[in-house]
Amino acid sequence: MGEASNITLQFLGAGGAFTRIYGTTCSVLSLGDERWLIDCGRQAPDQLHAAGIAWHDIFGQLVTHVHGDHTYGLEDFAFSRFFFAKGEMGAVREGGPRPKLVCHSAVEEELWESLRSSLRYVPPPLPPKSGTLDTYFETVAAYASEPPADNPWHHAESFRAGALTVHATETEHVPGKPSTALTIEVGDGKVAWWSGDSTVDAEALVALEPRTTVFFHDCTFVEYPGQVHGSFAALEKLPEVVRRKLVLMHHEDDLQDHRVRAEALGFRVALPGQRFDLTTGQREPTLAD
Ligand SMILES: [Zn+2]
Ligand SMILES: [Zn+2]
Repeated sequence: MGEASNITLQFLGAGGAFTRIYGTTCSVLSLGDERWLIDCGRQAPDQLHAAGIAWHDIFGQLVTHVHGDHTYGLEDFAFSRFFFAKGEMGAVREGGPRPKLVCHSAVEEELWESLRSSLRYVPPPLPPKSGTLDTYFETVAAYASEPPADNPWHHAESFRAGALTVHATETEHVPGKPSTALTIEVGDGKVAWWSGDSTVDAEALVALEPRTTVFFHDCTFVEYPGQVHGSFAALEKLPEVVRRKLVLMHHEDDLQDHRVRAEALGFRVALPGQRFDLTTGQREPTLAD
């Protein structure tokens, strides 16, 4: 095995909304010593524990959109850091560092709607019900944005925090609902791309391909009218150069029925525990290989 990369992504959960096998979505993005989470689904607290990672090891949180399989672990994260110290790191309520929170402003609004019924209740000396997202997280404001396109909110917002530069671009997921894909800068003008939950935008993927090391795309093998995910029927029509850079994730428990067909087309399939070097797009070998 070569030298460990400086920028890696490890899947804790690689499954879709209703998975019972692959875990709801949560991944650890490591930028040198900084650990970020991409989404924080309902199983995230247990996934982190199983991986030997504490909430206090997390520098910041990225959120693509607000659905339980992406965000229902966040109340645990917020309260754990607010109330508890660990080692050298103090509790947030005692002046310890708040984890950073990076998400599109339209997603942030829905995130607070989802969390406020628990997080607004804060202990004295804070006034009762005065909690906000900023009580628990250091929310990062966008340094640039693109004007609205298909929805009333910005088409894209860009963020810098710590070692991270990321662009959150709206995707087509549930109509009328804010949802974003993440374009993560990995150096040398290259990016790694994360779909969040999104239908397939072939034109955008093809345009992005030359400077992309790896695409992570949610995937479903079930076709239905009003598709809200990355339909495999659409993904398999992508040019081979894109397919070979693309990792299927957020799949449901029927994955094994389709895996051979997907891999024959050049796709890779994400499983919990796998780690990818984002500067090369390659998966690090494991004992299972
Ligand atoms: Zn989802
Ligand atoms: Zn979703």
